[in-house]
Amino acid sequence: MASYDVIVIGAGPGGYVAAIRCAQLGLKTACVEGRETLGGTCLNIGCIPSKALLHATHQLHEAEHNFARMGLKGKSPSVDWKQMQAYKDDVIGQNTKGVEFLFKKNKIDWLKGWGSIPEAGKVKVGDEVHEAKNIIIASGSEPSPVPGADVTVDEKVVVTSEGALALGKVPKKMIVIGAGVIGLEMGSVYARLGSEVEVIEFLDHITPGMDSDVQKQFKKLLEKQGLKFTLGAAVSSVEATKTKAKVNYKLRKDDSEATAEADVVLCATGRRPFTDGLGLSDLGIETTKGGQIKVGDDWQTSVKGIYAIGDAIEGPMLAHKAEDEGMATAEVIAGKHGHVNYGVIPGVIYTHPEVASVGKTEEQLKEEGRAYKVGKFSFMGNGRAKAVFAGDGFVKLLADKETDRVLGCHIIGPAAGDLIHEICVAMEFGASAEDVALTCHAHPTFSEAVREAALACGDGAIHM
Ligand code: FAD
Repeated sequence: MASYDVIVIGAGPGGYVAAIRCAQLGLKTACVEGRETLGGTCLNIGCIPSKALLHATHQLHEAEHNFARMGLKGKSPSVDWKQMQAYKDDVIGQNTKGVEFLFKKNKIDWLKGWGSIPEAGKVKVGDEVHEAKNIIIASGSEPSPVPGADVTVDEKVVVTSEGALALGKVPKKMIVIGAGVIGLEMGSVYARLGSEVEVIEFLDHITPGMDSDVQKQFKKLLEKQGLKFTLGAAVSSVEATKTKAKVNYKLRKDDSEATAEADVVLCATGRRPFTDGLGLSDLGIETTKGGQIKVGDDWQTSVKGIYAIGDAIEGPMLAHKAEDEGMATAEVIAGKHGHVNYGVIPGVIYTHPEVASVGKTEEQLKEEGRAYKVGKFSFMGNGRAKAVFAGDGFVKLLADKETDRVLGCHIIGPAAGDLIHEICVAMEFGASAEDVALTCHAHPTFSEAVREAALACGDGAIHM
C-alpha cells in the first residue's frame, strides 16, 4: 500500500492536468487510469482524433475546390482511408505519450487499472488499496443513448463518435442523429470524403444553445457543403443489419412517420457522466438527476476530501473546462485560491468555417431583459478572408448598452476558434467594446474582423 497526498481517478484533460498541477505544488500524487493510454476521451477518442480527421479532409476539400482557382493544377489527391486512419492514430500516440512523459517529469505515479473508493481516504486499484489525503474524481463521460428510442449500438453500422472515428471504410451514406457539435464535426468529415450525409435532429434548429444568427448561417454553409438536414424529427428506433441501418422517426409538426436508410448511423445526441464502479452511492456522494456529481465552489463533493471535476460534474462538457477545474482543484487542495470563471468559457466547432462563441447570446440577453447593442462585421469586408475564399461568415459582438462592457461574442468564419480568445481576454479584464476597437490589429489578419465588430458597436465599422 502506498500513501499519497492526492490520488486522481481518470487521466483525461481534467485528471491529468489536476495531477500535474498537484505535483508542481509539491503534493505527492498518483493518477489512476483504466485505459491502456493516458489522455482520456479527449486525446484517445475525442478532441484530438476528430481534429486530425477534420484537418486531413479540409486539405482534401481545399485541393478539390480551391487549388485550381489559385493556379495550382495537376494531380488531385485521392483518399487512402487506411493511411488517414494511421495518421490519426499517430497523432493520438504522440499526444498520449506526451502526457506519459509529463507524468514521469513531474514524478506522478500512474496506477494502472480501474479505481474505486472503498471509503474516504482510500482508493482501490485491482487488489491494492492506496491511501490518499485527497481524492479527485475525473472519470469523465460516455455517449448518451438516443432519448426515447430503441437503438442498439454495435460500433460498426450503428456507431457512437468512437466508432465513427474508426470506420472500416468511408460509407456511401451516413445518417447522423443529433445536430450538435460532435455530430456536425463528424458529419463534415464524411461529407468531405464523399459520403452522402443526412442529419436528423429533434429540435427545429441545429447546435442548441448557440446564437441564432450563427445557427442560421452555419446551417446554410453546411448545406452548401452537401449536408442534408431533417429538423423537428423524433427518432423512435434504428433497425440494423450487418451492412445497413434504417432510422425510423416521426416529424413533430404533423406526427407523420418516415424512414431513412444508410450504411452507417452515428448516434450523437450528447454525453452523460461516467461514474460506474467508483462506489459513489455507498460513500454517500450526492449526484444530480442527470448523474453529475454535485460539488461546492471548491469542487469538493458532499464527502470531505473527495473532489470532482470535468465531464463528471455539471457545466459544459469541454476539455478546457475540465483542465481549468483540474488546476483550480489542485490549488484549493494545496491551500491556494483556485479560480474558474464559468462566464468566460469559449465553445468551438472545428468545421470549416469554424464556429466559436463566448459569453451571452443575444437570446439570453433578451431573456434577461438587459439593454445591449450589437456590432456585426462580415468577413466579406476582411481582405485576408477574401484572399483565402473565406468571406462567408461574420463576427457578432454584444456589449452592454450603457457601459459598453463586452457581454458575448459569436463568430463563424476562418480561425474563429483562435479569434474568440481576444474576446475571452477582454471579458476577463472587464473590457468595453471600445477597448477592443481602440486596440491596433495587424493587417491583413482575420482578427481585424473582430476589431471591426467592436467598431460597429460604436460609431461604425470602416470596411462595411
Ligand atoms: P475524460 O476525458 O472522459 O477522461 C476520463 C478518464 O477517466 C477516461 O480515460 C477513463 O478511462 C478514466 N476513468 C473513468 N473511470 C475510471 C476509474 N474508475 N478508474 C480509472 N480510470 C477511470 N472538447 C473540447 O473542448 N474540444 C473538442 O474539440 C472536443 N471534441 C470532442 C470530440 C469528440 C468526438 C468527443 C467524444 C468529445 C469531444 N470533446 C471536446 C469533449 C472532451 O473530450 C471532454 O469534455 C473531455 O475529455 C472531458 O475531460 P475529463 O477529464 O472530464 O474526462
